Amino acid sequence: MAQKYDYLIVGAGLFGATFAHQASLCSKRCLVIDKRSHIGGNLYCDNIDGINVHRYGPHIFHTSNKRVWQYVNSLVEFNRFTYSPLANYNGKIYKLPFNMKTVD
Ligand SMILES: Cc1cc2nc3c(=O)[nH]c(=O)nc-3n(C[C@H](O)[C@H](O)[C@H](O)COP(=O)(O)OP(=O)(O)OC[C@H]3O[C@@H](n4cnc5c(N)ncnc54)[C@H](O)[C@@H]3O)c2cc1C
Repeated sequence: MAQKYDYLIVGAGLFGATFAHQASLCSKRCLVIDKRSHIGGNLYCDNIDGINVHRYGPHIFHTSNKRVWQYVNSLVEFNRFTYSPLANYNGKIYKLPFNMKTVD
């Protein structure tokens, strides 16, 4: 017998996954499809020797909205993270973003 769905969601990234989760809480049946072989969209991480490596580039979650923060923390556990990018130019290490100290 054919399955009946209320929603067909194309893309299992942050948007599709959140929508599917919320719709399911409202007793809606969802079918989520993705052309990639994994869920998570651009946020996807490969676990290499216990280290989460962001396959599609680094992602940092930031919000100043308390409700959003409480919502995401009810779903997943976050790693504490300090954003401290460095640039290696001709073997010398510089802090990013560049500032007047770098120019000096
Ligand atoms: C390098 C990089 C760094 C980023 N850093 C940050 C950050 O630090 N903080 C931040 O908030 N945001 C960041 N973003 C943006 C972030 O990726 C998006 O905000 C978020 O992942 C978008 O989620 P999404 O579900 O809309 O899309 P996506 O994560 O792109 O998911 C869409 C999914 O839909 C699938 N799809 C698309 N078309 C089809 C189709 N026709 N058929 C089937 N499946 C399909 C794709 O395969 C994908 O899995 C970054 C983006 C990039 C590329």
